[in-house]
Amino acid sequence: MKETEVYDYIIVGAGAAGLMLGSAMALDPYFSSKKILLLDPDPKDKNDRSWCFWSKEEKEAEPWQALQPHYWSHIGVSYQNHIVDHTIAPYRYTLVEAAPFYALMKKRLSAAPQISLKQEAVSQVQERSLGLMAVSTEARTYLSRQVFDSRFNYKPLLQQQQYPVLQQHFIGWFVKSNKAVFNSQQAVFMDFSVPQKGNTRFMYLLPSSPTEALVEYTLFSPTRLQTKEYEKAIEDYLSNLGLGTNDYEVQRTETGSIPMSCYPFEQENHAHYLKIGTAGGWSKPSTGYTFQNSHKKIQALIPYLKTGKPLHKFHKRNRFWWYDRILLRVLSQDNSQGKPIFEGLFKKRSAPLILKFLAEDTHFLQELYIMSAAPLWRFTKAFFRVMAQSFLPSRNKK
Ligand SMILES: Cc1cc2nc3c(=O)[nH]c(=O)nc-3n(C[C@H](O)[C@H](O)[C@H](O)COP(=O)(O)OP(=O)(O)OC[C@H]3O[C@@H](n4cnc5c(N)ncnc54)[C@H](O)[C@@H]3O)c2cc1C
Repeated sequence: MKETEVYDYIIVGAGAAGLMLGSAMALDPYFSSKKILLLDPDPKDKNDRSWCFWSKEEKEAEPWQALQPHYWSHIGVSYQNHIVDHTIAPYRYTLVEAAPFYALMKKRLSAAPQISLKQEAVSQVQERSLGLMAVSTEARTYLSRQVFDSRFNYKPLLQQQQYPVLQQHFIGWFVKSNKAVFNSQQAVFMDFSVPQKGNTRFMYLLPSSPTEALVEYTLFSPTRLQTKEYEKAIEDYLSNLGLGTNDYEVQRTETGSIPMSCYPFEQENHAHYLKIGTAGGWSKPSTGYTFQNSHKKIQALIPYLKTGKPLHKFHKRNRFWWYDRILLRVLSQDNSQGKPIFEGLFKKRSAPLILKFLAEDTHFLQELYIMSAAPLWRFTKAFFRVMAQSFLPSRNKK
């Protein structure tokens, strides 16, 4: 039996959230005397995803400058099957690739001798006694009083009924075409001109040049499709742009399913254990955006850890959680409502204000102004349903 190793902090999963946390610890002198372990079976050396978010010029994109992000200052959103262009200053829509992100984070970790990154899969995390957590892999058991866990599992979400669960699911193709058909000045945020088939379906298009783009067929819906259905939708979309299947090459693909739910992910947390990243509910329930939110959470978590307070007290629920819950209630009652809701919103309100709202940076009056652009009756009904579910005795929770 191998000797047990003891750490001050163990981070399970070295994906976006785990690496952001490990790297923030590597850069902060407070943690230079702490022993820190990251565990992940994956070597994190593939360009397996691209992350987008909107950042205010300079300030918010700055932590990612070294990754050479791609920026767009305009976004497109469809309205009645045509793309409407929106300028988004003071924001820029920003894309960073996973491979350089993983490489940069790992470089920071390896420059910090107190941090180890091991390629092992965690099979179990258990509280032993007096807050001592045992993190087991096939190789051995590691001990720590502070464990951060980014392993995500859909199962508990799907086993409950109180909180609707949608998925943001998609397949994206990075295409290179022999014709200049893309407008590289504009990131197409949501193009609902594709057949909706009773769901919320849209195309997401990120052109990096007139001949290169990420084309992603995306749904906000309860269940995933067969791979060929996403692919057919992308082919049809490219065909409408004037590209036959011989006119482009698919250089890379990405696929994903991000949970969209107000499920209380935090309920598994306790004084010595904190779920982080998507597993911790850091994916915005109404949009699936996670990357920038994880960055903000880590920025708050680092000073919080220095206070020595119990980990589960870190989580705070805000009013945006309630807004998201109402929207998700509407979309799960009638999944075809995404197109009119999102198109209507971008038609009636300015894109920078909507992005500010989605980034949870607005104040209450701005939120009322935004919400007054939504279909009143549907949202009022959903509001009362959510209230009844939350505050009436459980026999009424249907
Ligand atoms: C293709 C794709 C594109 C996305 N694009 C965007 C985007 O544009 N903008 C945005 O904001 N969000 C996006 N997301 C959502 C979200 O930002 C990402 O999923 C992000 O990677 C989530 O970070 P995470 O750390 O929670 O999970 P992950 O990055 O998935 O990290 C979890 C880690 O846990 C590891 N792990 C799993 N099991 C074990 C185990 N047993 N033991 C130890 N480790 C384990 C995994 O190997 C993985 O490295 C995208 C997601 C995908 C899949």
